[in-house]
Amino acid sequence: MKDCYMCGAHDRELRPYGVNRQWVCFACAFSTPEAEAAAKAAFDGQMATVVAGMKPGQVVVLGVGDEGPKALYPAQLKDALGGLDDNSSPYN
Ligand SMILES: [Zn+2]
Repeated sequence: MKDCYMCGAHDRELRPYGVNRQWVCFACAFSTPEAEAAAKAAFDGQMATVVAGMKPGQVVVLGVGDEGPKALYPAQLKDALGGLDDNSSPYN
């Protein structure tokens, strides 16, 4: 089980954007200037890695799983975003 490295919470959404990529909750990630800087640096680093590894035709998607941004092909979006009402998806 993942716990927020700052507050110990494990009952909320966590992301690997803490210092040294530790799991952190949203409130803690923006609770101090240092935590916010670490979160932004971790996110930017992960985004740069994803973008560098993208294949032609892929798009960067946020909010799929809890690992951060991912590169997917548009055809993968509907399954990846699961739970969306069919009428709300622009990818039908
Ligand atoms: Zn926390």
